[in-house]
Amino acid sequence: MDDLLLRGGIVAGQPRDIAIRDDRIRQIAPRIETEATETLDVRTKLVLPGFVESHIHPDKAFIADRAPGLQSGGPTPQTIVAELKKTFTVDDIRQRASRALKIALRHGCTAMRAYVEIDTYVELRGVEALLQVQQEWDGIVDLQLVAFAQEGIQHDDVTCDLLREGLRMGLPTLGGCPYMDKDQTGHIDWFFETAAAFGARLDFHADSSDDPAMLTCDYIAEQTIAHGMQGQVTLGHLSTLDMLEPTHRADVIAKLHEAGVHAMSLPATESHVKGRNDARHTWRGVTRIGELREAGLNVSLSTNNIVNPFTPYGHPDLLRQALVAAMTAHLGNPEQMAWLLDLVTVNPARALGLSDYGLDEGCRADLVVLDAATPAQAITEQAEKLWVCKDGRIVVRNSRTTEFM
Ligand SMILES: [Zn+2]
Repeated sequence: MDDLLLRGGIVAGQPRDIAIRDDRIRQIAPRIETEATETLDVRTKLVLPGFVESHIHPDKAFIADRAPGLQSGGPTPQTIVAELKKTFTVDDIRQRASRALKIALRHGCTAMRAYVEIDTYVELRGVEALLQVQQEWDGIVDLQLVAFAQEGIQHDDVTCDLLREGLRMGLPTLGGCPYMDKDQTGHIDWFFETAAAFGARLDFHADSSDDPAMLTCDYIAEQTIAHGMQGQVTLGHLSTLDMLEPTHRADVIAKLHEAGVHAMSLPATESHVKGRNDARHTWRGVTRIGELREAGLNVSLSTNNIVNPFTPYGHPDLLRQALVAAMTAHLGNPEQMAWLLDLVTVNPARALGLSDYGLDEGCRADLVVLDAATPAQAITEQAEKLWVCKDGRIVVRNSRTTEFM
């Protein structure tokens, strides 16, 4: 007896039945004769493995109404949020983060990597809150936490100790932000040394600037190879690649590929934050998603910020991010639309090291069923996520009603 049977969903372009028992996909086949506790008719509906948010900030979500927004020549979002962080309590962070997870789940997300800011302003209150959230959402959304230095490490002499304490509290990944410090290579060196000491993975917010002289991803790639950390380092933003001469950019991308780093594009935040101080151009700041993928890198898309000064309209819906990426990175051709949803499913799963992920027999039954027959239709129509299944259990059912009168 199976727990759940999905009848006739579109899997890799073909109609397939999917039988689920316990928390696993037991069988995928054109027709499965079986008894199941629950059967869903999903004929002509696209079935994907659960969406994976690879770069998101639930600890500073839903604070856009606590400060004025960005203006040309005005304070950076980092400066505005640093001030707000001083007032964050554990309970405040926990409630806002839970709200973010709930919306992400409603939109088909079953796993995420979230940053937890650790610095003199918020100290370890975010860690305490997010560890509670991780426990509350266990079995519904798999939550990986990153001990993240949003403020850099060179402005005071306590942040490094606090970051080490965050790792000791059980956070498996260390997150750097070189562009927040004057000595960027010194910053990067500290993160590689500390990751080695704790056996942590590394995740950098890297190259957010429009100044090619600020580029760091080539140095991070060198250090990744020197420390034997190929496959364990993730880079978010990479906006500066867009400002390099094409031959220089190709050399840097080849180095990133050699180092096996995972690339995360954050198109909604880049589109809101970048290019505000240049009267001549409106730089969109989105990295070269197509070129990175073409060079063989593992590229993902993620939501990044949710309703805060970095992205006031940020919303944890990865199907939306696929559309934003298509619009901002020239990725609308049929062949590109066909692979864009890999950037919110299998690619981020690989970057996060998720085990038994995917639409194969024996994989964990984390699935989303979309009200569309193809990825292109799903992106174009922003199709409803009809069912979300986590560990073999239906955890969300959505519907849209339209009446033509
Ligand atoms: Zn970020």
